[in-house]
Amino acid sequence: MTEPARPALAVCVFCASASGISGAHLDLAAEVGTELARRGHVLISGGGLAAAMGAVARAARDGGARTVGVIPQALAGAEIADSESDELLVTADMCTRKAEMMRRADAYLTLPGGLGTLDELLEVWTTRALGLHGKPVVVLDPDGIFAPFREFTGQLCAQGFVRPGALDVVTWVTSAAAALDAIEQQAVPAQASPRRVQDGSREPRMDSTISTA
Ligand code: AMP
Repeated sequence: MTEPARPALAVCVFCASASGISGAHLDLAAEVGTELARRGHVLISGGGLAAAMGAVARAARDGGARTVGVIPQALAGAEIADSESDELLVTADMCTRKAEMMRRADAYLTLPGGLGTLDELLEVWTTRALGLHGKPVVVLDPDGIFAPFREFTGQLCAQGFVRPGALDVVTWVTSAAAALDAIEQQAVPAQASPRRVQDGSREPRMDSTISTA
């Protein structure tokens, strides 16, 4: 008997936009894109082609995944708007971008990144800890880039600033396969779009009037 197909999930990947990072981080991002596509999931990304953001989106598309990019108007140039996205949403500001990425996702996966990545991770982490959503929050950090940050959150917990339960809502993993395994085990599919159809139509939908309602 064949196993029932796993439902497609919309996986929001937060990762680096900085061009100075090592090739290993780009390789990791590409590996995530490839694995996500192989499993039939949809990528929700920051809608840029810069650095790791571009690597994950390109690899996901090359693997046949549907990709949805969400980029603020002001960064469309600096982060190189991903015009190959199946859907490219252009938002008026950063807050709307983050809200739209979060709204569309069934799960959040964070890769090593800078301040923007940390901002995004903390938003989905704190809102999950507050019980405002129940979506998986997974961090893929094979080289321990975030180890001091993770340790710091442990210190905050030891000092009573952070409730112990708040640390437990994040799943830390060291491989792309483990990240996707954790997401598939924890996520409840809600709004993932079907696997992208290879019909030759590559025109992304441009939408500058995003509603966050
Ligand atoms: P970084 O980790 O600093 O390279 O940033 C990764 C991504 O996070 C980039 O696309 C940034 O534009 C994005 N970013 C930074 N701050 C925010 C924010 N407050 N809301 C939404 N996206 C952000």
